Amino acid sequence: MAIWHTKTDQSDLVPRFMNWLEQRNPGEIEFHQAVYEVGINVLPFLREHTEYMEAAIFGRLTEPDRIVSFRVVWEDDTGKIQINRGYRVQHCNAIGPYKGGIRFHPTVNQSILKFLAFEQTFKNSLTGLPMGGGKGGADFDPKDKSDAEVMRFCQSFMTELYRHIGPDTDVPAGDIGVGAREVSYLFGQYKRLANQFTGVMTGKGLSFGGSEIRVEATGYGAVYMMEDMLAARGDSIEGKTALVSGSGNVAQYAVDKLIELGAKPVTMSDSSGFVYDPDGIDCDKLEWVRELKDDRRGRIKEYADEFGCEYHAGQRPWGVPCDIVLPCATQNELNLTEAQTLLRNGCIGVSEGANMPSEQEAIDTFQKAKILFAPSKAANAGGVAVSGLEMTQNSIRMSWSRDELNRQLRDIMADIHARCETYGRVSDDYVDYLKGANVAGFVKVADAMLAYGVM
Ligand code: NDP
Repeated sequence: MAIWHTKTDQSDLVPRFMNWLEQRNPGEIEFHQAVYEVGINVLPFLREHTEYMEAAIFGRLTEPDRIVSFRVVWEDDTGKIQINRGYRVQHCNAIGPYKGGIRFHPTVNQSILKFLAFEQTFKNSLTGLPMGGGKGGADFDPKDKSDAEVMRFCQSFMTELYRHIGPDTDVPAGDIGVGAREVSYLFGQYKRLANQFTGVMTGKGLSFGGSEIRVEATGYGAVYMMEDMLAARGDSIEGKTALVSGSGNVAQYAVDKLIELGAKPVTMSDSSGFVYDPDGIDCDKLEWVRELKDDRRGRIKEYADEFGCEYHAGQRPWGVPCDIVLPCATQNELNLTEAQTLLRNGCIGVSEGANMPSEQEAIDTFQKAKILFAPSKAANAGGVAVSGLEMTQNSIRMSWSRDELNRQLRDIMADIHARCETYGRVSDDYVDYLKGANVAGFVKVADAMLAYGVM
């Protein structure tokens, strides 16, 4: 009998559930990790809400609606035929069309996309907007490719994907390795194949249906979340020394907002190492990073050469003394030892710009120390929230102003913070934001699934 039907002793519900999940999904360690991270909060909540338990809602949510996997064949600049594997995980459309990014990175596999799609469902729910969860990608590395190769790859990828997506079905966006260039190639190919100009992708260029504030939204949102957590403790971001990892889209705009709010970001990184600039990364230096990464596709080491600061090859920035931390590169980039080092060095808050950057033991360490910890599904939801606003603008064929969208983003992040408080308040002076985000995200989706009956 499935575990959610066992009404007697449920004290070991989490390990029994994980055992069931791991047997059904062998070897998918990132997916196991993501489900565990939600399950430790949601499964105990189900004990008091048996209607969800009896309808097996959480169990159903660990099985994606569908996964499409396909061959992507393209020709490189030397005329050689290359083969990659593409995916789209359509996780759950209970509260709106599937929505979530596309990742191009050599590490992409089914486990990683299932974890990302699972997370996306709860994150999208938390925004308060009508969006389901999905994620896609390919084991393709755009880094060492020419523009023409990236274009051919994107066109081939979309030639299969286009039959599975649509403005009311599934609306992909960018993610790691899929920026403005890739979204444009993908959207252009969709438009050509479907013979329709619709809001089928978000993150588009401003001249063809894109939204103001979309590129800034994830990084800005992660900093807004930190601002709200600090404010709830009577503190502010001003004057805080901040560690940021990554130097891509999320990291750049997190640094941008930190500077604007008077904090001092001192690190950025890429997959080769990190730079430590004790004087702080200012607007001019950030502009230089933007040009380095977006235009020249260079390495962060060049920052150290340009501005005469430290570069640490093959390392992550978590050993540098700081007040606050924004991991904005990738999953599992902050482990137990690094979390302990951060605490020893004075860190009081973590806001996860990347998806699942902290390993479970690192999260446990932050929570035990009762520092401020905003999990990615809350902290980086600003990006998908503005994607949702892009969908709305496309549907009504209007474009809202930058100020209007920034105001809406700010309000949505404040609402997310409030929802986390509702379900995560432990005592007068401590909010478990992870529990708050997990339960708040779950309840909205679960109520919709209950209403639909058994499917
Ligand atoms: P980008 O591709 O723009 O940047 C990714 C950054 O992370 C780069 O600096 C990259 O370095 C670094 N990185 C990638 N893989 C690794 C790795 N294995 N080890 C160390 N560093 C790595 O991606 P985004 O900024 O868009 O995304 C960053 C994170 O934020 C991801 O987890 C993504 O899922 C998440 N996210 C992004 C959203 C968005 O709106 N863009 C929305 C919500 C979440 P290098 O250049 O060397 O590869």
